[in-house]
Amino acid sequence: MSDHYRHTKIIATLGPATESKEMLSKLIRGGVDILRLNMAHASHQWVADAMWFIREVSTEVDRQVAVMMDVKGPEIRTGAVEEPINLAAGDLIEFHIDGVEPSGDIPAVSVNYRGLPAEIEIGSTVLVDSGLIQLKALEKTDERIRLEVLTPGEMGSRRHINLPGIQVDLPALTEKDEDDLRAGVEAGIDFVALSFVREADDVKVLRSFLDGLGSKARIIAKIEDQAGVRNMESIIREADGIMVARGDLGIEIDYHQLPLVQSQLIRACQAEGKPVIVATHMLESMITSPMPTRAEVSDVSHAIREQADAVMLSGETTTGAYPLESVQVFRNIIETIEPSVERTLNDRIQLKEPKAKMLRSAAVLAADLEDSGIIVFSRSGFLPYVLGALRPHGIPIYAFTDIESIFRQLLLPWGVEPFLMEFSDDPEKTIQDAMGYLKRKGWIKSGNWLVVITNALAEQGQIVDSLQLRQVEN
Ligand code: PEP
Repeated sequence: MSDHYRHTKIIATLGPATESKEMLSKLIRGGVDILRLNMAHASHQWVADAMWFIREVSTEVDRQVAVMMDVKGPEIRTGAVEEPINLAAGDLIEFHIDGVEPSGDIPAVSVNYRGLPAEIEIGSTVLVDSGLIQLKALEKTDERIRLEVLTPGEMGSRRHINLPGIQVDLPALTEKDEDDLRAGVEAGIDFVALSFVREADDVKVLRSFLDGLGSKARIIAKIEDQAGVRNMESIIREADGIMVARGDLGIEIDYHQLPLVQSQLIRACQAEGKPVIVATHMLESMITSPMPTRAEVSDVSHAIREQADAVMLSGETTTGAYPLESVQVFRNIIETIEPSVERTLNDRIQLKEPKAKMLRSAAVLAADLEDSGIIVFSRSGFLPYVLGALRPHGIPIYAFTDIESIFRQLLLPWGVEPFLMEFSDDPEKTIQDAMGYLKRKGWIKSGNWLVVITNALAEQGQIVDSLQLRQVEN
């Protein structure tokens, strides 16, 4: 096994601190597997330029990365204010829907969600600016709400609003999301992360939009409110993966429930065999400091012990002063913690298809052998995704495909090391080519055992699924 092999994948968000060619090259060589484009702060030209740059740098440094476009989804925001409003505890403020005159007796700001007065309950909490300002709803009409300030703060223009526990009636995709997706698909994105997924139908809406664009990008549903948590099982079944989006989630649910919800989401994904990403505030202090806090090291370790497929950096690599150090810290923690994780296969996963059940046997066989790995050939990505979901510790999954988009999508699942290679009509030649490549590149050496999952030619030209045991020769 190569020294560089690790099971847990690293996602970094691209931003001003990392978008130069030099930084991008260092980030990719540093071990990032997926780059995230956050559409909350991006123009279409930026997307096209970033994509071009990423593919060019990847080719130069001979290490491919996948690209995930994170679309903003249905966000509730306050409108513009001429001057920031200073709010002290006990002050009153009015929220009114767009286009309505303010009452005039207290400071007021518009909100972009017309359904807010109808859906808010008197006495409920409204959180502004990532929860920094807490308000309580006191009175409402069809168009206005009066709120009392509970925690003070300064409210600037277009601040994000969270409504914990309130089921909002907003479309899954906004017009902006659709425009962003058109630009992303055109540029060749591999994954789409959809914000504020509340139910499985939200994923279906995105899927049919992507189908309409002819895109096979995989969908990562971001779970970031109570509805998403409530409907996690059906959402996971519909999506291709989940992101535990702890920034908003930590505001929308009681913060002390967050570790429990994170564990539930990870386990539910593992039962369904879908990848799960743990995101936000993982190394937040490294935005300004070259070293993580002890608590951050523990948090990242916890995600690795729970066997999340990937851990993600946001501000650390968009505006932070130490983006490369943050990636290195992730790698150090992953490399130290992974070998200590209990080596049992995932027994929660329900393997329905006989071909998938064969994978469990492959993982058991590989685990019984010293210095082993699994080679799998795939055109759809299905088998490597299931193999990763089985969590065979210490056993690299070498996944060969001849389809470029599938190759990049295989960069997400736990434990899968993908390779792009032409397949021969002769299955034996394909196996020999794969083993030869792995040996040349130092992934395997003489004496190593490989469990190979492939098609084999049987009598009368019939193709059968097969599981073979090979030993690497001198
Ligand atoms: C989050 O809320 O944790 C998240 C990843 O989403 P965003 O960065 O879009 O707020």
